[in-house]
Amino acid sequence: MKVTDHIVNAKGKTLFSFEIVPPVKGKNIQELYNNIDPLMEFKPPFIDVTTSREEYVYINKSGLLDKQITRMRPGTVGICASIKHKYNVDTVPHVLCGGFTKEETEYVLVDCQYLGIDNVMALRGDAMREEQYFTPAKGGHTYAASLVSQIQDLNTGKYLHDDTPMENNANFCIGVAGYPEKHLEAPSLKSDLKRLKEKVDAGADYVVTQMFFDNQKYFQFVEAAKAIGINVPIIPGIKPLAVKRHLQILPQVFKIDLPQNLIDAVDCCENNKAVRQVGIEWAIQQSKELKEAGVPVLHYYSMGKSDNVYSIAKELF
Ligand code: FAD
Repeated sequence: MKVTDHIVNAKGKTLFSFEIVPPVKGKNIQELYNNIDPLMEFKPPFIDVTTSREEYVYINKSGLLDKQITRMRPGTVGICASIKHKYNVDTVPHVLCGGFTKEETEYVLVDCQYLGIDNVMALRGDAMREEQYFTPAKGGHTYAASLVSQIQDLNTGKYLHDDTPMENNANFCIGVAGYPEKHLEAPSLKSDLKRLKEKVDAGADYVVTQMFFDNQKYFQFVEAAKAIGINVPIIPGIKPLAVKRHLQILPQVFKIDLPQNLIDAVDCCENNKAVRQVGIEWAIQQSKELKEAGVPVLHYYSMGKSDNVYSIAKELF
């Protein structure tokens, strides 16, 4: 079922969902299931599965280092299919512009259609780890809006290299990313919102936000989005802070602000166990306020270990 239909069916009740990251290749999928199992108590209508950008590895060939490209966490669509059937829950594979030609994207989408996956999250992806700027694959999309258009074309039966519309067209519900504190490359929040509007105009059905730690940023973002005619659901993404290093990493990587009260509370912690508890309590307070404000879904970034998301959800759902 589509994410938007789940929201409509909930009739104003806030739903619980979360995002998981595929394991590093070579690892067993059981660890992922062990993290999902406890969270099923809160009846998520859908679970997102991220897609990782390819990365460079250096292979030692007779003393010379050979630079190769690999994917360390493949398997997004397979994991989606596996979770969907194991737990009878909808899954949302993240589909990236970065690293994929339009043809490869079409094959991913065709796989999704055959597997009965009704939702996809359309994202540009970040720059590769060693690169300063995002570079699209040759023959790939430069921005998420054109990826949305490709998916929308499939929804109307239009494949890349076929003139004849197909009878059995796809019917994907399309999610896109939104940034309450603006995307790190955007010159201003206003211009970033215009880009978000382009994604919605291209066919996006809902938005999931980047993490934020101050709810006012989300509320202002939703107001500003509505003011320019973005009328699709905007789902808040919540990340429980988990280690002291997040105080540096999160602002650096995502260009987001952390509230001073949160920084002070983490600074007082003697170890990361205490930080994890602060992160849980902060996310509970954030989630309670968002739920009271009537957000459609509370979507959690679980990043592998789900014990903190479990503690938060237990207080809310
Ligand atoms: P876009 O919407 O294409 O925007 C990227 C930048 O370009 C923005 O600054 C925008 O303002 C600007 N822009 C857009 N269109 C134009 C234009 N026509 N001309 C000039 N500028 C333009 N990354 C992953 O690698 N894997 C994941 O699974 C993943 N999941 C995510 C889930 C969520 C909910 C979120 C919020 C992010 C996720 N990301 C993921 C990160 C995301 O890929 C990065 O934030 C990426 O840098 C931007 O992606 P986007 O889809 O928002 O890009």
